[in-house]
Amino acid sequence: MTSAGALPGGWPGRPVWAEVDLDAVAHNVRLLAARAAPARLFAVVKANGYGHGAVAVGRAALEAGAAGLCVICVDEGEELRRAGVGGPILVLGHSPPCEAERVVELGLTATVASREVARALSRAAAARGVEVGVHLEMETGLHRHGLPLEPLLALAEEARRLPGLRVEGLYTHFAAAEEGDQTFTRMQHDRLLEAAARLPWIPVRHCSASASLLVSPDMSHELVRAGLAVYGYHPSPDTASVELRRVMTLKSRLARVIEVQPGGTVGYGRTWTARRRSVVGLVMCGYADGLPRSLSSRASLLVRGRRAPVAGRIAMDMCMVDLTDVPGAAAGDEVVIIGEQGGALVDADELAALAGTISWEILAGVTARVPRIYLRGGRAVAATTLAERVPVPLDGRP
Ligand SMILES: *Cc1c(COP(=O)(O)O)cnc(C)c1O
Repeated sequence: MTSAGALPGGWPGRPVWAEVDLDAVAHNVRLLAARAAPARLFAVVKANGYGHGAVAVGRAALEAGAAGLCVICVDEGEELRRAGVGGPILVLGHSPPCEAERVVELGLTATVASREVARALSRAAAARGVEVGVHLEMETGLHRHGLPLEPLLALAEEARRLPGLRVEGLYTHFAAAEEGDQTFTRMQHDRLLEAAARLPWIPVRHCSASASLLVSPDMSHELVRAGLAVYGYHPSPDTASVELRRVMTLKSRLARVIEVQPGGTVGYGRTWTARRRSVVGLVMCGYADGLPRSLSSRASLLVRGRRAPVAGRIAMDMCMVDLTDVPGAAAGDEVVIIGEQGGALVDADELAALAGTISWEILAGVTARVPRIYLRGGRAVAATTLAERVPVPLDGRP
C-alpha cells in the first residue's frame, strides 16, 4: 500500500492530497525507454507533469533513463531549470521572438516555425557566444503550428545557415494515433519521412507520443515524446498488454459523517434526496481541486475498500458521498478519489468516461492547491504545496 509510508494521517492541513509514486514513474520510464530503443525517450512533463508535479517527475524520469524532457512553453522550462533540472528540455509550443533570450539563457531547445523566431534565437545565441538547439515542426494533418513541406524546407535551409542555431530535429504530431485505424497516422508519418529525405542533414526525426510508441514502434525513429504512459495510463485500450503502473493516487479523509433522514436533500441545487435513512460523508475535494463538477451524483469514491457514490453536486471545495452501504465508515477514514484501496479501483479512465472526457484531462486537472506527496519505496520523501512548488525534502519533519 503506497499510503503506508505517507505522512501519518495524510496531509496535515486540508485533507486532500495526491500521492505520486516516483518508483512507478521510474518503472514506466524504463519500460517505455526499452520499447523506444534505439530511439531516445523524452518524458513529457507539460502542465505540471500532467498534474503530478513537473520537477519531481522530470527528475525521476531522467534518473530512470529518459534522455530529456518536453514542455509546452518557456515558463515550464524555467520552472524545471530553476529547480536545478538538467538535461535537454524541448519546448514543444511555439515561443514568440521576444522569448528568444530566455530560451538561450535557460538552455532550452526550441521549436521554430518562422524566420522571425529563427533569427531572434540566432541573435540571442550569437550574442552570448553559445549555440541553441532547435527543432522544426511539420504540418502533416493536425493543422496547428507546423509548416507544410515547401515552407518547411525553406525555413530549414535558412536556419541551417544562421549563426548560433543548431537544427537538431524535425518532427510532427499525430492527429488520431489513439484510434484503431492507423491509416491517417501512416499518411502523416509518410509525409514526415518525405520531408526528412529532403533534409538528410537533420539528425533527429520524431513523431510518436505514447500511443504510437506502444502500437507502432517502427515510427520511433530517433526520439519519442511520451506523456500519458509515463504516468501509467494507456492512451487506448489496444495497448493494455504493456504493464504500466499508475503514478497518482488522489486521496482525502472523511471530514465528517452525518445521518440524513428520508426526504432530506444534500448539496447545492438539492439534486440528491435520501430515499432511506442515509449516512453521508463530507469529503474535502471539490471541482477546484480537480474533481469535475460533471461527476456530481455519477462518480464513486472509495471508502473502506468499497465504492461510495457521490451524493449530489460537487462543490468548489468539497463533495458528499453516500456511505449508507459502507458499514463502519467514520470521520477520519481515508478516501480514495483516484486510485486503489483495498482491492477496489477508481482510475482516471473511469472518471474520464463518466465525465465525457479523457484521462489526460482528469490528471492534468488536479490543481495546484492539492499538495503532492512524493513516494519512494512506499515512503514519503518530498512534498510540494501551493506555497512550495519545488519539492521540499520531508526528512526531519514530524
Ligand atoms: C502532449 C504532447 C505529447 C505527449 O502526448 P501523450 O499522448 O500524452 O503521450 C507529445 N507530443 C506533443 C507535441 C504534445 O503536445
